Amino acid sequence: MDIHESCFERLAAAYPDQLDHRGVWLSSWAGLENSVLSRTLSWFLKNWARCPTIAEFNEETTRERDRQKIANRREITDACSNCESGFVILDADKWIVRPCDACRPEQYDRWQTGKYRAS
Ligand SMILES: [Zn+2]
Repeated sequence: MDIHESCFERLAAAYPDQLDHRGVWLSSWAGLENSVLSRTLSWFLKNWARCPTIAEFNEETTRERDRQKIANRREITDACSNCESGFVILDADKWIVRPCDACRPEQYDRWQTGKYRAS
């Protein structure tokens, strides 16, 4: 049994008699990262009294993926030796900084094209 199948079994066990369409669930999870799937599942099991719909579940996997992306980015920035918390200081007196191209390439690209706004 792979991770997706065992996640479906956990979901089915948590909400007995509320869950069918095993094949539809499994195919809706196709391509989903194991970590996103199992963490989303744990979140539902902890927080939801009823079984979520496939659409509700998928919506939460999107949020979970964003959370993981932000956490990964923070780890990369923490480990980066080119910057201060993701920013490179251009002028310390005037406190002019730019996003770090090593650990925040997306922000750096936006900054380069003039679209960046510090948030
Ligand atoms: Zn950096």
